[in-house]
Amino acid sequence: MSRGLLIILSGPSGVGKGTVRDAFFDNPKLNLAYSISMTTRNKRPGERDGIDYYFTTRDRFEEAIGKGELLEWTEFVGNYYGTPLEAVERLRNMGKNVLLEIEVEGAVQVKQKCPDALTIFIVPPSMEELERRIRGRRTEAEEIVQQRLAKASREMNLISHYRYVVCNENVQEAADIITAIIKNHM
Ligand code: 5GP
Repeated sequence: MSRGLLIILSGPSGVGKGTVRDAFFDNPKLNLAYSISMTTRNKRPGERDGIDYYFTTRDRFEEAIGKGELLEWTEFVGNYYGTPLEAVERLRNMGKNVLLEIEVEGAVQVKQKCPDALTIFIVPPSMEELERRIRGRRTEAEEIVQQRLAKASREMNLISHYRYVVCNENVQEAADIITAIIKNHM
């Protein structure tokens, strides 16, 4: 059995990465597994520990960094986020194509360690639409919304790190394009 692909899906906060992912992830032909990240941010309504993220403390996160348990990690709007290495290795060795949904700094770290990672960046139809989507979530204070928007602008300037850029104007179309990209690399 050949080792699975490592696929990095990025895009600014609010672009709809999760919604697009839901529209292609269960396609059995893609043989995907999701890498569950560790984070120190608070759970949003509806999020489940061990499914959406491993929610943890800063102490535990820093211990994971120190022990080399993370493939990559970053600090994003005041919280740590990182990818547990062991699960990624285990799933790829089982032949699964492993999907990381991470921001740009983490993606750059992964590319340094795994140059053959397949990198895909999702962009919004416009920055105005992105702001509308972030505000539509209504779960965060204005200060956090502003920080997420500023980070989104910085991320949009870094798309040259990615092999593919896909616009999420229509969720199903974006999902179909990503499906085609992944199939093309399998
Ligand atoms: P959110 O708080 O909206 O769930 O995530 C904030 C940002 O962190 C998103 O861009 C998301 O893709 C990114 N992110 C989630 N998990 C990880 C991770 O393990 N590593 C890195 N570098 N970014 C992550």
